[in-house]
Amino acid sequence: MTVDADELRGIVRGFLAANDPRGMDRLDFLRARFDAGLAWVHFPAGLGGLGAARELQPLVDAAFAEAGAPDNRPHLNSIGLGMAAPTILRFGNDEQRRRYLRPLWTGEEIWCQLFSEPGAGSDLASLATRAVRDEAGVGSEAEWVVDGQKVWTSLAHRARWAILVARSDPDQPKHQGLTYFICDMTAPGVEVRPLRQITGEAEFNEVFLTGVRIPDSQRLGEIGQGWQVALGTLMNERVAIGGRAPAREGGLIGIAAEAWREHPEKRTHGLHNRLLRLWVDAEATRLTSLRLRQQLAAGDPGPEGSAVKIAFAELNQAITGFELEFLGEPGLAYDDWTFHQPEFTDFAKRGPGFRYLRAKGNSIEGGTTEILRNIIAERVLGLPPESRTDKDRPWKELPR
Ligand SMILES: Cc1cc2nc3c(=O)[nH]c(=O)nc-3n(C[C@H](O)[C@H](O)[C@H](O)COP(=O)(O)OP(=O)(O)OC[C@H]3O[C@@H](n4cnc5c(N)ncnc54)[C@H](O)[C@@H]3O)c2cc1C
Repeated sequence: MTVDADELRGIVRGFLAANDPRGMDRLDFLRARFDAGLAWVHFPAGLGGLGAARELQPLVDAAFAEAGAPDNRPHLNSIGLGMAAPTILRFGNDEQRRRYLRPLWTGEEIWCQLFSEPGAGSDLASLATRAVRDEAGVGSEAEWVVDGQKVWTSLAHRARWAILVARSDPDQPKHQGLTYFICDMTAPGVEVRPLRQITGEAEFNEVFLTGVRIPDSQRLGEIGQGWQVALGTLMNERVAIGGRAPAREGGLIGIAAEAWREHPEKRTHGLHNRLLRLWVDAEATRLTSLRLRQQLAAGDPGPEGSAVKIAFAELNQAITGFELEFLGEPGLAYDDWTFHQPEFTDFAKRGPGFRYLRAKGNSIEGGTTEILRNIIAERVLGLPPESRTDKDRPWKELPR
């Protein structure tokens, strides 16, 4: 029997009566919340959930916020919560779910994503990082020895764990010889170097993996099934990036609208028209994200998430461009060019120049707009696929 909204309210009330957030250590409170199944209510019992409908989560979060309870600071662990957790839930075994999900949700362990490589971004399946199985391993457990280079790895400088895709069988065609692992970012052989972006700061890194030993118990899914597992992660990534639904006139359109209200002297008829059009587009995108969330509540994310991700990226770029143009010269003054590695990217707390430059990455991260259009063409509209001559040839024979 699944839990309904009234029962859930009762469970939250009971929990708060027994665990007063004002008198408890923050982490103890979060761990207790997880153990009570009130972390992500749609997860199974024992893994932070109650097997309830996913759409009941906002009700639970609101009740905790109203009681002044600390949250798990989701913005600091976006890859963990948005991508690693659903992948571990779906493809992990019981032991892995029990080991990783609790400290991931509480924010004690931050996650990053070791997918992209210098020679493999859009065509991720062509990646070259090698994983070689060592049967001798440690004790009775086999290990994998991983060598290669990853790039654009957001949060690698803060992460304890990574989701990693590596090539375990170069004799197989590119999609079939991949295996998916959980990589310990503190293991010997993992080297993280920051990459400075157009914004001046380094959200992401290049990561060198040299003889990194990964126990077989940290493999997610079967050997050679890495592509199927990675596809599950990527579907969740697109929803995580594009599927957040802010309040009406929230997010970037809210910032632009505020600037418009604050500066009547800068208004022109042309800019007014543009702002109204952007406002309507933002509202349409917001409502489409809400629909996507409902669809998500009914099952796994599908290729439709790609459309919202495209809309979100285009809109962010258009709004931040509008903001700069509206503000004129003061908008071009850059707020902070010092090199630093942020804990997370906050569009709202930075100046318009930062927002404009950072939004450029929105149409690249999580799959470029061109690639997402291909996915929509093929998997939503059923149009003829791109020609892929390398699909059935052994990976090691492909020109690189
Ligand atoms: C802010 C940011 C954060 C990121 N964080 C991470 C992370 O944490 N972990 C991670 O693994 N990766 C991360 N990435 C990397 C991101 O996933 C890749 O940049 C992206 O997949 C594109 O790959 P690429 O950069 O190699 O470009 P390429 O694949 O080389 O593409 C170059 C251009 O060619 C176009 N193109 C390529 N193939 C086709 C095609 N078949 N049809 C039409 N056009 C095509 C692309 O659209 C693009 O315009 C991040 C990127 C950004 C910008």
